[in-house]
Amino acid sequence: MFSEQFVLADRVLKVPSSPTLAVDAKAKALRAAGADILNFSVGEPDMPTPAHVCEAGKRAIDAGHTRYTPVPGIPELREAVCAKLKKEQGWEYQPEDVQISCGGKHGLYNIFQAILNPGDEVLIPAPYWVSYPPMVLLAGGTPVLVPLQQERQFDIDPAVVARYATSRTKAIILNSPSNPTGAVYSLAALAEIAKMALAGGWLVISDDMYEELFYGEGKVPHILHADPQLQGQTVLSNGVSKSFAMTGWRIGYSAGPGKVIKAMNKIQSQSSSNPAAPSQYAALAALTGPQDFPRQMREAFLSRRAYFVESLESIAGVSCVAPMGAFYVFPNFSAYYGKRFSGKVIDGSVALADYFLSEAQIATVPGAAFGADDFVRFSFATSITTIEKGMERIKRALAALQ
Ligand SMILES: *Cc1c(COP(=O)(O)O)cnc(C)c1O
Repeated sequence: MFSEQFVLADRVLKVPSSPTLAVDAKAKALRAAGADILNFSVGEPDMPTPAHVCEAGKRAIDAGHTRYTPVPGIPELREAVCAKLKKEQGWEYQPEDVQISCGGKHGLYNIFQAILNPGDEVLIPAPYWVSYPPMVLLAGGTPVLVPLQQERQFDIDPAVVARYATSRTKAIILNSPSNPTGAVYSLAALAEIAKMALAGGWLVISDDMYEELFYGEGKVPHILHADPQLQGQTVLSNGVSKSFAMTGWRIGYSAGPGKVIKAMNKIQSQSSSNPAAPSQYAALAALTGPQDFPRQMREAFLSRRAYFVESLESIAGVSCVAPMGAFYVFPNFSAYYGKRFSGKVIDGSVALADYFLSEAQIATVPGAAFGADDFVRFSFATSITTIEKGMERIKRALAALQ
């Protein structure tokens, strides 16, 4: 065994360990011991990958697509991304301005590695997706958290963004629809953010992973629609993980200014080289084949969402903004903080999630993981019967607190 003196990299020590790990480990242990745990912690669709996509993956293996591909991904898939962006949004991109990565997550990782120097700040609206601050830290940058308000449906607030912007601001990350809040930023707010980004020379990183899961009318408001001038300094980050239930295939894509994409390709060439070849052909089938899957998934989520929000809102002391996208509800339980169960104080979201797990056999993700301790995240990528059963347990568990 290594000696105690063995020193790990400073960058690892800079990244705080995940507040969800303990709850997650306990959930796994309880499940392994045979407990009837209802799982609301999952961050992926509960449907299988569409059959025609799986078939394309298998055909790719049989056709010998089992070798390295170009670093930025196969040309056909990059062309398909350009065609999609053109057809659905009217945006022009060339295949050389697109990178295919091992999931949207690795694309975002590549972006931060490609743009950040020590001292560079990245504006991150909070509640945020768990990976943004650690990714910025690992790239040597400084995450700057910009608080969003529940009272404003977690819409981004340009006045608050302005308060946190400095001369060191290098980029801002937008995630709309958002994980964990389900918020969709308003076009008016995005237009103001666009002005600030143009004036400050910020790179805008738009994480559009949940664009297909929007519960409003028409298309999700997007900063490039708020101000098309911004296209030259925006990187779009997206993928097929959520829209085609392909989380395990690991395919994401980024589209943006050639200078940034080229730098990202340099990083990717020295890390993953390229995403798995058969997965790229499967993603090609997803983007170029029938598009009814995301629509059907959205329909299924719509009814679960309505039931979930209504049930949560009916509990005394609980408030929940109706998510306008994605598949999470993010209710505020802070009215219960300070209460006790057999002498133990519920002092925040980690204690509450732990209580839900041990007393109600419900697995959730504490809001602390997203920088918002008043909340707990529930995924509704699960059956309506599970949601009904889960809500009964939650009500009983909350009523038992004193
Ligand atoms: C799931 C998710 C991603 C990335 O997903 P991959 O599985 O890496 O493609 C990126 N951003 C958000 C907000 C997500 O929820």
